Order: sequence, then structure tokens, then C-alpha cells
Amino acid sequence: MRALVMGAGVVGVATAYYLARAGHRVVVIDRQPGPGMETSFANGGQISASHAAPWADSSAPWKALKWLGREDAPLIVRARYDPALFRWLLRFLANCTSRRAKVNAERMLRLAVYSRQCLAEIRKETGIEYDALQTGLLHVYSNRREYDAARPKAEYLNSFGCGLEVLDRDECIEREPALAASRDKLVGGIFSPEDESGDAYKYTRGLAGICRGMGVDFRYRVNIRRMIPGGERIMGVVTDGGTLGSEDYDAFVLALGSYSPHFAESIGINLPVYPAKGYSVTIPTQGANGAPRVAVIDDERKIVYSRLGDRLRVAGTAELAGYDDRIRERRARAVLDAAMDLFPDCGDPGQAEFWAGLRPQTPDSVPVIGRTRFKNFFLNTGHGTLGWTMNAGSGRVIADLAGGQMPEIDLDGLGVDRFA
Ligand SMILES: Cc1cc2nc3c(=O)[nH]c(=O)nc-3n(C[C@H](O)[C@H](O)[C@H](O)COP(=O)(O)OP(=O)(O)OC[C@H]3O[C@@H](n4cnc5c(N)ncnc54)[C@H](O)[C@@H]3O)c2cc1C
Repeated sequence: MRALVMGAGVVGVATAYYLARAGHRVVVIDRQPGPGMETSFANGGQISASHAAPWADSSAPWKALKWLGREDAPLIVRARYDPALFRWLLRFLANCTSRRAKVNAERMLRLAVYSRQCLAEIRKETGIEYDALQTGLLHVYSNRREYDAARPKAEYLNSFGCGLEVLDRDECIEREPALAASRDKLVGGIFSPEDESGDAYKYTRGLAGICRGMGVDFRYRVNIRRMIPGGERIMGVVTDGGTLGSEDYDAFVLALGSYSPHFAESIGINLPVYPAKGYSVTIPTQGANGAPRVAVIDDERKIVYSRLGDRLRVAGTAELAGYDDRIRERRARAVLDAAMDLFPDCGDPGQAEFWAGLRPQTPDSVPVIGRTRFKNFFLNTGHGTLGWTMNAGSGRVIADLAGGQMPEIDLDGLGVDRFA
């Protein structure tokens, strides 16, 4: 089988790996000069399968109101005329019930936990190095009400075998001694021993190199313009450099992150993926001894921390403002200030590097993976806040489907048909 993967982000590269591993011939195209240069470049670094939780739940609208007008708010919706945003928000609101949140959490968890297993398999098979740490993930709370509300959620997640442990303040500090500096701010935490962290960009670049060794043909600086539909099949992909047609490819995989909806919609597939801009800050930790080693999520500020070798990656905030990926100094500084507040001795803030990226966010936070009504066209996109967590499992599922194999997990609720 010959497959064309559109997109060399972490999701596209993982798809190429599993396709090549199954013995298929694979071409990957991307507009950038190398792999992983857009949203997969400097994300939060967490493989947070056991904390997979949708944005939309019964408390989300109230939180959004509370944050209104605050420039350092975890979520900002910038008012603008944008029908796609308006439609996305309506769908988001429809998911803001406890019942929908439970359904969506189960779907995310199913893929995320499977993906963590697949990532371990890739590590074992390839020996890939990406500053990986398997030291667990600690979700810390400074608001008693949020902490109390999180405990039944942890019990729900434990019914799927997540193994979450509810910790008091001292136990949090025992797990991650760097939190001692912020002792008075904490009320407790939830620890997931199975979760991990690592540098998604190093991994994507490394895995692309491994794929090349397996015969995958990466073609960079190729800008995709549109796809050509034809009855039950996709007839080809039009790029600035010419058309890649179905006479040369048996399967086409769309893994263009936040840009996927333009191409899906051009062939009549409604894909409600909207860019949710986020920021990260990378702080060198040399000479400082107050940076965490365990991956941490600060619930109050919705900010994540991952130790990547001798750097601390801090990431968070979500801004619904279209495809503007410029760095707003004030938003980035809010992330840095939060880091220096929780971990005052984590490194030199003067050396911090700022970055912004666009998460491909669905209104229910569940990615869109699977078949479409075109027999030779597959979607692997919409991974939102968890594309790094879910890359390996999503790649494996699509490689299985495209190769005519039965995926190892149930795909119910993960496909584009749920938006019909
Ligand atoms: C601030 C922040 C923190 C995050 N933290 C985490 C985290 O801790 N854990 C986690 O699991 N996830 C995290 N994420 C989410 C994760 O980074 C994304 O879900 C993931 O990177 C998406 O990967 P992708 O391959 O789908 O998209 P991308 O990496 O964006 O890849 C899409 C590719 O398509 C290419 N492309 C687009 N349009 C075209 C075109 N017209 N022609 C040719 N090529 C094109 C792009 O060049 C790009 O390489 C975070 C995201 C952000 C922004």
C-alpha cells in the first residue's frame, strides 16, 4: 500500500512511523523546512493520559465569566466576526454538562491510555531519546473547592484503571520537594504515577529520522492548496509544486493540526477544529535547584510544568482568536510570572524563551480520528491540548485502518461522524 501523509507534526510523523512499520510505502508532505515546526515545537511536554479531561464541563461557562476581561486569564475569547468561532462556541456550550463531560472524558482516556502504551512500544523498538521522564504527574490545587470537586473525578477516572492517588499538601511536597517553596499556596494534589513527560519536538525530529531510515520519503516546503474529491474517493492533493494523485497513492491521511478544517471543508467534511492559541516559556535550570522533576499541573492557573533535561518547560493559557500565532508579550510574561511564583528558584527568568502555538481544538476536546465517507481518506487531527499525549496511539490506529487491519481500541465516538 502507498500512503500520503499530509503534515509532519508529531501526529503525522507517528502515523508515518506505524505505516512504515507495517511495511507500507509512505510519503509525508509539509510546508515547513523540517518536522514538528508548528504546534509540536515547544508544547507543555506532558504525556498526561490519566488527566485527560475535556475543557467543556458544567463549570466551564462560569469559569469563563469569572475570567472575563482579565488579560492573564487561562482562557480568553477575543471578540471578532468569525462564523467558525461562533459555531465552535455553540457546540462547546452544548458539551458543558456533567453527562457530556463524562462521555468525552472516557473517549479521551481510551485513546490517551492506549497511546501511552504505544509510546512505550516506540521507545523500546527505536531507542529514541527526547528528555523523557517517567516520574509521574502531580496535579496541584490551591483552591479548596476545586480540590474537593476533583476528588470524585479522580474516583471516576480510577474506575478506568488510572491509579490516581489523592494527596494532602505534605504528601505533594514529598512527591515533588521543589513545591516546598510554595507550601502555603497548596491545599493538596492528585498524583498519577503512570504519566510522563518529554520534549515533543526532539521526539518528532528523532522519529522522522528513524522513519527516513525505514524508507519514508519526507518532502518539505510543500504547501498544500486543496484536495480533489471524486465520488467515493479522493482523487488527489493539489500543492504549490503540482498534484499528488490517487494513481500513485492508495490512502491519504490529513494531519494538518489547526489547518485541517480548511481542507476537510473544501471536500464537504464538516470538521469543527478551531485554533486555541497557547504560550510556553522555556527556562534554563542550570545553577538553580528549585525546578521540579515530576511533571506538575497548577490547577488554579491551568499551567503545566515539565522538566526537559536542563530546561523547565512551562505552558498554558488558551486564546480563541483565529489563526494569529504572534507572541503577545503580556500573555507570555503571565506564564513566566506564574512559574517564578510557584517555583521561585527554578532558573534564570532573564534567559527564558517565549513561544506560542495553535492547538487544534474540537468543541468536545476529543480528537477526530478515523475513516471518512471517502474510502481512501483518513483523518488524524483535532488533538487540542493532548496531541503529544495521543500521538503514538492515533498514528497506530490510522496505520491499522489504512492498512485494512482492525485497530486495537474501540473507535466509537472518535470519528468525524459525531458532528454530523
Ligand atoms: C502551549 C501549548 C502547550 C501544549 N502542551 C501539551 C502537553 O503538555 N501535552 C500534550 O499532549 N499536548 C500539548 N499541547 C498540544 C499539542 O502540542 C498539539 O495537540 C500537537 O502538537 C498537534 O500536533 P499535530 O501534528 O496535529 O499539529 P502540528 O504540529 O501543528 O502539525 C501540523 C503540520 O501541518 C503542516 N501544515 C499545515 N498547513 C499546511 C499546508 N497548507 N501545507 C503543508 N503543510 C501544512 C504544518 O507545517 C505542521 O507541521 C500543547 C499545545 C500548546 C499550544
